[in-house]
This record gives sequence, structure tokens and C-alpha cells, in this order.
Amino acid sequence: MQLNKTLLTPGQMKPKPADENNLGFGRIFTDHMFRWDYKTGQGWHNARVVPYSPIVLDPAALIFHYGQEVFEGLKAYRGAQGGIYMFRPQANLERLNRSCARLCIPAVPVDEALEYLYEFIRVEQEWIPRAPGTSLYVRPTVIATEAALGVKVSGEYLYFIIVGPVGAYYPEGFNPVKIYVEEKYVRAAHGGTGEAKTSGNYACSLLAAEEAHAKGYTQVLWLDACDRKTIEEVGTSNIFFMIGDEVITAPLGGTILPGVTRDSVIQLCRHWGVKVSERRLSIDEVIAAQKSGALKEAFGSGTAAVVSPVGVIAYQGQELKVAGGGTGQLTKRLYDEIIGIQLGTRPDPFGWVVKVA
Ligand SMILES: *Cc1c(COP(=O)(O)O)cnc(C)c1O
Repeated sequence: MQLNKTLLTPGQMKPKPADENNLGFGRIFTDHMFRWDYKTGQGWHNARVVPYSPIVLDPAALIFHYGQEVFEGLKAYRGAQGGIYMFRPQANLERLNRSCARLCIPAVPVDEALEYLYEFIRVEQEWIPRAPGTSLYVRPTVIATEAALGVKVSGEYLYFIIVGPVGAYYPEGFNPVKIYVEEKYVRAAHGGTGEAKTSGNYACSLLAAEEAHAKGYTQVLWLDACDRKTIEEVGTSNIFFMIGDEVITAPLGGTILPGVTRDSVIQLCRHWGVKVSERRLSIDEVIAAQKSGALKEAFGSGTAAVVSPVGVIAYQGQELKVAGGGTGQLTKRLYDEIIGIQLGTRPDPFGWVVKVA
């Protein structure tokens, strides 16, 4: 393993953001980026940290025409007692490789990729913000770079990582979201690419999201592509419902993204003795449970927000309140526990946290 570094001098570096309470998400990037090349016959080679800069590609590069791409999203943050940590980074890299396999992209060697990732985070560690709830968002991405206009599997790739400080998701406490149950558009069908984190899934979700925003909703709740009845996921989060004392989420059948946070939520609930079912759940069952009072909570799960409470579900012209439009107890407990494990203020029984520096 050899990582070459071309680093800026302190005088060439950008100023760090002055206001850590106003970082937003995905707008600020650090001084450097990580790059790693692939060529058929050569494999992955030339891993390097270089100044953050535009990527120069041939206009015929396959990524521009046929979207052969995968990405990941994870975070690095400061522990409560100092030190720099990441949450289940190996799970993200293993998922990256499963996405790669679906898109005919060669796998990256996970152990080497993790070492490079940690080393890159150490290079940029001064960029990790200190305000509560803030972190450094990490975006590994693989793109097909071979210049060729026939539809084919690329013989060349670039794996790059960019990172940037992001704000606290709930600076003023939980903010329950209003979600719109989508009946016109679908996100993924069996046999498609729904379980891969690949650009096309997001490109084709934009129109539904725009239409939902125009109606006053934050996120789209996707139903299955066959009969638009079974719950899949919400926007870029997995979704959980608590009905009676059962916590329910969609099974990993190929059409939903296997979230690392989803898996953490399931493991924690089981650890606490809370019943979790990965099963098909129809929107009709959710509506009936809401009407009978059995629907206790609903929340999305994902790296960015950890868990985000659902306050309102809109379906066929009706608006249904969940948890009185507020945040349910289990949602709050999961949030506090996962954040506590991440920061090192609570025990980490599953060994999820990795110390990077
Ligand atoms: C990334 C993502 C998730 C959440 O995954 P995490 O690993 O928990 O961040 C869920 N659904 C979709 C569609 C996603 O892209």
C-alpha cells in the first residue's frame, strides 16, 4: 500500500468556515481530494491525495453517456473526549462493492480502501468541525472514465473521495417531516438497480420529489413498482413504522437501499428486546393502523440525519398525523443511542465505531 500525497502549503489552503452553526449540507469542501485509478490489466493503481480540483475527462467518457457510477455517504467526526472517529466505514465500503458489482464496475480492495480513507481523513482533520452535531461528510464515488461512445462496460475508472464539513441536522430539536405517498412514479423494480447506490436512481427520483415539494411535502414515500401498495423507502432514507409493539421495515428484496443506519436500528431494537419485522407492509395497513390508533411512530433512517421522525403522511388527498405530528419515544431513543455510540458517550456493544486519529 502506497499513498502519494501532493499537499498545499498552509498559505495556499482555503480559510475554514467561520460559522460552524451555519454549515448547511454539501456546500463546502476541503483543500484536498483522494484519487485512485483503474485500468483493465493494471487494476487499481496510483492512489494519491491531491489538491481539490476539477476532474478533467474526455467528453466521450462513458460516465457522461451511460451513467456507470456508484457512490457512498458516511461521516467522520470528533468524539466527546477528543479523537476522530467513523461509524461502520467497512459496511459502507462493502456496500460500495455490491453497488459496483451491479454496475459492472471492478471491486475496490476493501482493506486498502479503508486505509486510504483513514489516511485522507487524517490529512483533512483540521476541517472536522467542533460544534455539537456537526461532522465531516465523506463522499466516495466511482465513475467510468474510458472515452467510447458504444454502450459497453468501461475499461477505465476513477475512484475519488471528496469531504466537507456539514451542519447539525437538528440544531433546534427534531423537525418531523411531512411525506407524500407517491402513486404515479416508482423508484425501483425487482431486477433493477434499487439496491445499488448509483446515480440513475436519484436522477429518476427528482421529478417526483419536485412535485411533492410543490404540494408542500418534504419527501416522497415510494411504493412498490408492481401494484403501488407495499412500502419501500422514503426519499434517500429507509423507513420504519411502529404499529402496536411491532417495528416494521421493508425487507431487503433488491428494490431498496440496504442502509447502514437501517441495519444499526434493527440491531439496536433487537438488543433492547423490541420486536422488529423486516416484512412487506402495505400502505393500507399503515392507514388502518393510523385510524385505529395502533400506529405509534414512523421514522426515516440514514447517515445524514440518523433518524428523522415522520409527522404527517399524505395519501390519496388525506393527511394523516403520526405521533401527534411530533417525535415518538422510540425514534428519540434510537437517535440518542446512535449519536451516543458515535460520540463515545455510550457503550458500543457492536464495535461500530472506528478510531481514525
Ligand atoms: C444512502 C441511502 C439510504 C440510507 O443509507 P445509510 O447507509 O443509512 O446512509 C437509504 N435509501 C437510499 C435510497 C439511499 O441512497
